[in-house]
Formats: sequence, C-alpha cells, structure tokens
Amino acid sequence: MARLSLDHVTKSFANFDAVKDVSIDVADGEFLAVLGPSGCGKTTLLRLVAGFEKVSSGEIRIGSDVVSSSVGSVAPEKRRVGIVFQNYALWPHMTVAENIGYSLKVAKLDKAVARQKVQDALALVNLQGLGERRPANLSGGQRQRVALARCLVAAPSLVLFDEPLANLDVHLRASMEDEFAAFHKRTGTTIVYITHDQAEAMALADRIAVMDHGRLAQLATPRELYHEPANEMVASFISQGILLPADVLTGEDGGHCKVRVLGTELVVRCRPGERPRAGAKICCRSADLDVSPDGPGFDGFVKRLIYQGGGARIEFAPAAGPDLTLHFEQPDPVALGSGAQARLRIRSGWLIPAGPGS
Ligand code: ATP
Repeated sequence: MARLSLDHVTKSFANFDAVKDVSIDVADGEFLAVLGPSGCGKTTLLRLVAGFEKVSSGEIRIGSDVVSSSVGSVAPEKRRVGIVFQNYALWPHMTVAENIGYSLKVAKLDKAVARQKVQDALALVNLQGLGERRPANLSGGQRQRVALARCLVAAPSLVLFDEPLANLDVHLRASMEDEFAAFHKRTGTTIVYITHDQAEAMALADRIAVMDHGRLAQLATPRELYHEPANEMVASFISQGILLPADVLTGEDGGHCKVRVLGTELVVRCRPGERPRAGAKICCRSADLDVSPDGPGFDGFVKRLIYQGGGARIEFAPAAGPDLTLHFEQPDPVALGSGAQARLRIRSGWLIPAGPGS
C-alpha cells in the first residue's frame, strides 16, 4: 500500500488553481522530491498533505486513512506527519533536548520514557551530547538536524521537508545532503522533500515530481527525467535541456527514429509507437554536442563565450535558425572565440512525445 496517495487533488484560491488535478502515490519508505520553479504549487502541495489547507476536490490518503477530501479534513496534529521547515522553527529559549521533547511534554508522556525518546532521536541525527545546548550555540546544519530530531520523536508516518537547505551555504548544503541521504537509508522513513534545487532533488530522491503551473508535469526517476523528459517544460527545466524543432521522418524502431533537425538528419531516442510527424521537438544536452569541423553537422557562429575557469560555456546560433541558442562546454585551451564560425554535430537526442490532443 502507498504510504501517501494524492488522487486527482485540486486546490483553488478564488478562481485560481494553485494545484491542479495532481495524482501521486508515494511508496512506503520512498524518498520523493517535489521540484519546480517558483509559484508552481510545491508549498501548497506540502500544506495540503500536512493539513494546513483543505483540498477543493480529490482525495489525500495516508496509509489507508483518507485525511482530506471534499467531505472533510483530518486536523494536522492527528495526521502523524512530521515537518522540517526551512527556517528550523526552533524555540530559542529552550535547550536542544527541550525543543525535541516539547511535543512529548504536551502529550504528557512519562518523563523517563520521554527522556529516552529524546536521546534516541538525538542519536538518529548524530547529535549525541548536544542536548543541553541552546539553538543559538549551534551551526545552521546542527539546527536543521535538531528540527529533524524534533519531528522524528513523534514517530511520524511520513516526513515533509520544506526547502530545508535553502538557508545554508554551499558547503554545508553538500554535507547536509549526505546526512539526509544517510538518514533515509538508516531509517527507511517515507519522505516528501520540497525543493526548487534540481541538483538536490537529483542527488537525494528515488523519484521526482516536477510541477508546472500547479500541474504534475512528470513523475519519474532522476535518470528518466534527464534522458526522457515527457514534455518541453521538463526538458528545458532539467539541466537546461536544449530544445530544437524537428520533423520526424520515420516511425519508431527499436526505441529510435530518424528526424530532420536544422537541415540535417539524425537518429534520436523516442517512445514506443512514435510515427512520422512535422512540427516536433527534440531535446539534447550540452554533452550531446560536438564541434565537427569537417564531418556532418550544421554551420553557425559563436554568439557568446563565457569563461568559467578550466573551460568556457559557448552559446552558439545555427545558421538555419539564428534565433535558436545551443550551449555547450569546451575545456581549456578554448579554440573558439566570440563570433567564430563553426560546425556542430548532435550526437544524441530525445524526441519530445506529442502532447495531449496533438
Ligand atoms: P515558491 O518556490 O516561490 O515558494 P511554490 O512552488 O511553493 O513557490 P506556492 O506557494 O504553492 O508555490 O504557490 C502557488 C501559487 O498559488 C502561487 O501563484 C501563489 O501566489 C498562489 N497561492 C498560494 N497560496 C495562496 C493563497 N493562500 N491565496 C491565494 N493564492 C495563493
């Protein structure tokens, strides 16, 4: 049984759908990241699961319990959902142990039992021995771990993370990413992790739900999102995919088809059952592009060169479509200069599936 199920969930504010017909099943023990640009509905989705908002239509289930539907909604404190907020939300006047044990105190749990649970939670997040400190005397990463311990102590059936690393510097982010991954492996907790940082989502999640204007654009493994984006939004959002107009010349055969792109023919990967059509798009990555001075390819010129240390990012305009921009990296010594003419070859690509109704 799925630990968390969203079944055709819509949340409207006045006439605006912040979340639109979203269906997701999160398996027991799964780490799901919800990823998307600002305003795509990530926080609203998290607030619906936590119980801070009610669905306008559809249904949310945790385990076998319906916690939200148009008929009614279970209160947040009765859902057994832990939340780790971006700003930690710790009480500054309480010690670490008091922060972690606060919910147990409110629940009037036996003191010795509560003390043991706090110690266990501290151990789970590798903070043994720091129970008597105040939050002000901890690093950002340690505070985030206290916030995690505080939600674990209540034995939640799932944990929601709301952009937990957004306030940390780059180095601390990387080490907290490792900590979260290790924590998930150790405890098998079901996690829903909201982020707008795709590197974070890719590094941590079993699957990623990409949101776009309130809708679920694609739900897939990180690898699948990168190699087989379901639509143009996912293709360009994930790792800055390059979208190019294409005509499909042959039907799918063995997972591939032949397309014409920028006046040249090439074979790209595609979904089963693709048929010849005009007005399609392919997605390729900067790693799929080669400078090909004498070989097959298409001509164009370097629009812009941005030196990045050890190499440069080159933005290239094809002669057959000067308004398009393809980008790729060249290591030092960079042979191309701004304005230089060159020939590029696309080594590999993915045919974006036809949208609904097309
Ligand atoms: P960010 O990454 O910037 O936090 P997000 O993906 O989390 O964005 P949401 O906060 O879920 O996006 O907002 C989605 C849309 O719903 C936005 O257009 C927002 O203005 C709108 N919205 C959210 N809450 C409300 C509300 N209470 N009333 C009206 N509109 C709302």
